[in-house]
Amino acid sequence: MAKYPPPEELIKINYTTPVKSWMDTKTAFKPGNFSYPGKPDILKYLGMPNPREWTPTDDDWKLPPDWQRIVMEKFRSLLKKYRSFKIFMDICVRCGACADKCHFFIGGGDPKNMPVLRAELLRSIYRGEFSAAAKVLGKLAGARKLEEDVIKEWFLYFYQCTECRRCSLFCPYGIDTAEITMMARELLHEVGCNINWILEPAANCNRTGNHLGIQPHAYKDMMDFLCDDIEEITGKRIRPNVNKKGCEILFITPSGDIFADPGIYTYMGYLILFEHLGLDVTWSTYASEGGNFGLFTSDKMMKKLNAKMYAEAERLGAKWILGGECGHMWRVINQYMSTMNGPADFLETPVSPITGTKFDAAAGTKMLHIAEFTADLIKHGKLNLDPSRNDNFKTTFHDSCNPARGMGLFEEPRYVLKNVCRYFYEMPENTIREQTFCCGGGAGLNNEEFTETRLRGGLPRGNAVKYVRDRHGVNNLACVCAIDRATLPPLCDYWAPGVGVSGLHELVGNAIILDGEKKRTTDLRQNPLPGMEDEEE
Ligand code: SF4
Ligand code: SF4
Repeated sequence: MAKYPPPEELIKINYTTPVKSWMDTKTAFKPGNFSYPGKPDILKYLGMPNPREWTPTDDDWKLPPDWQRIVMEKFRSLLKKYRSFKIFMDICVRCGACADKCHFFIGGGDPKNMPVLRAELLRSIYRGEFSAAAKVLGKLAGARKLEEDVIKEWFLYFYQCTECRRCSLFCPYGIDTAEITMMARELLHEVGCNINWILEPAANCNRTGNHLGIQPHAYKDMMDFLCDDIEEITGKRIRPNVNKKGCEILFITPSGDIFADPGIYTYMGYLILFEHLGLDVTWSTYASEGGNFGLFTSDKMMKKLNAKMYAEAERLGAKWILGGECGHMWRVINQYMSTMNGPADFLETPVSPITGTKFDAAAGTKMLHIAEFTADLIKHGKLNLDPSRNDNFKTTFHDSCNPARGMGLFEEPRYVLKNVCRYFYEMPENTIREQTFCCGGGAGLNNEEFTETRLRGGLPRGNAVKYVRDRHGVNNLACVCAIDRATLPPLCDYWAPGVGVSGLHELVGNAIILDGEKKRTTDLRQNPLPGMEDEEE
């Protein structure tokens, strides 16, 4: 278990301007501020360069002999391939509008976590190598040479960015620091500097179809266990379709939801919803992952992992894909899928078989978010709901960065929540919707060894949760992302004790009244429903 200071210590943040300039400040690796490197066998499996045993606290990082040439060649090729990257390297005017918008800077006070300075770590090398004037003027023009310390600095700070894109919202030029981080990580891969918590899930997904490496028979067993629990709670046996050809819809969700608490309750919520509707839907044990750790690795990996979902939809003969509560799955779908793997012309634009609504916004990707699907069902009066079953929850809603800023999904989850719960309270305006604060664990940073820095980065979100807890008695933070469901419980325990975390469809599953179900006495977690405490004894 990682050791970290208590909140009253962590909150003592030093925002004073450092004495030395950032270029003269050496990178310091300390327990809790970095993630462990990719294991050699994982790199070998993925065919990635320079697999070796090393650790960031070593002096010698065992870079390949011609590492400078390798990095600069890749830099050149990325600038050529991505026009946006070149523009982001050229146009920053250092206005500082983004400086205090990153949760890692707010919670830690390290200037190199200001988005403007994070990008400058790369931009200074860009100037030094690609601008004739800056080559001559050097530091005066913000340029420097590529030395081993620069690689160390990149590794620390580009793996202290969750690619949440909050900073980009405030930049008058639309500079997207998340994309700069993606480019920096691609450069680091070239010399074998990457982290295992990203590469191992990516390798698992490549091999078994999901990040956790769950094999098809085990996936099916886990589904059966969850169906057993639903039967115990509702008296109804659900028999979901698995790998069934010819169903209208293929449903894909993150594998974290079948494996880990509290995601499993969201998974049960989906099962109950589909049963309630009699939906012609199948699950897949091959496309058994909605998440895409390729997004945090490289464009090639992202493309490959995304393609698997569409290949499976085609193999099964589904008409369209319904997607579960995931964060970065939706960023990949909305921002990259169409140009990466589209058009998916073998699929159809999603149409709800229950309400007839055609979701034209999903015409390009043929993939619909479950919150949009459920909101439409509620709007058309198609769900039999008892929101009082969620009366034990006073809930607020965390806009997960990727569905919020990556696809503009703001109102549908709130509409669903307000219909399945009777007590809903918003966090302060500058911490929700587009301006939402990251959980601190996105982009592959939800690992044990990084806990202290993640808790620091979680301060702005934790602070807003604490505010609604203290003001309204909020005891539940609902969200639509599997990484959030893993990251937010320890964050809440730390910054806002007493607040639990749930998925949206866990609350939907609690509220749905299935035809012929027995009188429920517990919610999906098998805690007594309001007023049922005695019946449980
Ligand atoms: S993308 Fe998010 S984590 Fe990265 S610099 Fe911007 S605000 Fe910080
Ligand atoms: S807001 Fe944009 S232009 Fe201003 S410092 Fe940040 S990245 Fe540069």
